[in-house]
Amino acid sequence: MSIKSRFCPECGKESDKLIESLCISCYSVKPNVRLPKQKNVLFCVKCEQVLNKGFWMKGIKSAEDILEERITKSLVLPHAEQLISVKITEMGEEGKLKVVSKRDGETLTREVEGKFEIKKYCCPACSRESGVDYLAKLQLRSSVNPEHFVEESLRYIKFSNPKIAKVDNVLHGADIYLVNAQIARQAARRIKKQFDCLIKSSYRNYGWDKQKDRPKRRITILLKQK
Ligand SMILES: [Zn+2]
Ligand SMILES: [Zn+2]
Repeated sequence: MSIKSRFCPECGKESDKLIESLCISCYSVKPNVRLPKQKNVLFCVKCEQVLNKGFWMKGIKSAEDILEERITKSLVLPHAEQLISVKITEMGEEGKLKVVSKRDGETLTREVEGKFEIKKYCCPACSRESGVDYLAKLQLRSSVNPEHFVEESLRYIKFSNPKIAKVDNVLHGADIYLVNAQIARQAARRIKKQFDCLIKSSYRNYGWDKQKDRPKRRITILLKQK
C-alpha cells in the first residue's frame, strides 16, 4: 500500500485518488449532474425538417445531433469538472445519456436518466400543403428494389421543383401526390427513361370546373419497375 492510498468511506475500496473523499465510482454515481427532466426535438415526418432555433430546417445535422446539442447546453456538472462528451444511449421516456467528463486528470463516466425524444410532427408548411388538393398521383412500384426506385424517382421529380403534397410509403414503393399534373407527367417520362418500367395513366373526374366549364380531373400515373 502506498503512503497516499486511502479508503473510500462509501464502498471501502482502497484508492489513491479520492474526489470529495470518495472513490471515483462512488463519486460518479452521486446525483450531482443537473439536467432538465425532458428534452425533445420536433421532426417533420413529411419533409424531414427539424425545428431549430425557431426555424424549420433541413441541414447537415440530424435530429439526434440537435437533441444532443441541446442536452449538452443545458447540462450542469459540478464546477470542478470539464465536460468531454454527451451521447444519448437510449431515446424515449426512459432515456439514458452517457456523460463523460474530467476532474483532476481523472475521466469520469456517468449514466444520466431523462426523457429524450424526437417528436414526430407535421411542420406548418407541410400541414398547409396537405390541405391543398392534389392533381396528380404518381404510384411508384418495384419488386426489385422499392427503396432505391423511390429514392431515385424522387430525385427526378425534384428536378422540376414541384410542390409535393404528400409522400406515402407503401409496401412495394410509394405514392407521391403532386399539385401539378404537368410536372407529374414530365417526371414520369424522366423516370421511365432511367428505369425499365411500365407506365400507365388513368384519369378520374372529381368535380366540375365552373370557370373552364369542364370536369376537374386528377391523373394517376403508375410506374412499375420491371
Ligand atoms: Zn467507493
Ligand atoms: Zn414538413
